[in-house]
Amino acid sequence: MTATRTGACLCGAVRYAAQTDATTLGACLCDQCRRHTGSLLVGLGVMADALRWDGAPATYRSSDWAERGFCPACGSTLFYRVTAGPMAGYTSLAAGTLDDTSGLVLTHEYYSDACTAYRLAGDHARITRAETIAKFSGAEG
Ligand SMILES: [Zn+2]
Ligand SMILES: [Zn+2]
Repeated sequence: MTATRTGACLCGAVRYAAQTDATTLGACLCDQCRRHTGSLLVGLGVMADALRWDGAPATYRSSDWAERGFCPACGSTLFYRVTAGPMAGYTSLAAGTLDDTSGLVLTHEYYSDACTAYRLAGDHARITRAETIAKFSGAEG
């Protein structure tokens, strides 16, 4: 049975509901995720067509193949989305905007060597910058 995960930005102007069975979270410490979030992105991956929005997120095209979503009123980071290629539509919802994170667990960390000042502790896969690029055959974005 597919669960519904809901979430919102800080001010509540943008809300969403995602239909997903995903239970794993991925962190990304690449330069773009660090700058867009102000720290790092911890995301829940869903496809764009599994999302329903109440309020429109603003988007910033951060590369030729991805965009970043945020609240136009309060600036909360809402998602990273792939916009081109075989992964187009893949959306990493910022886990901090979820109303309820019960049942979710961090399983992997991308660009794990990109920021040594605040590495994540815990038992999860650490995928270096070089390994991340090799896996997705692309650059940061
Ligand atoms: Zn907001
Ligand atoms: Zn990133």
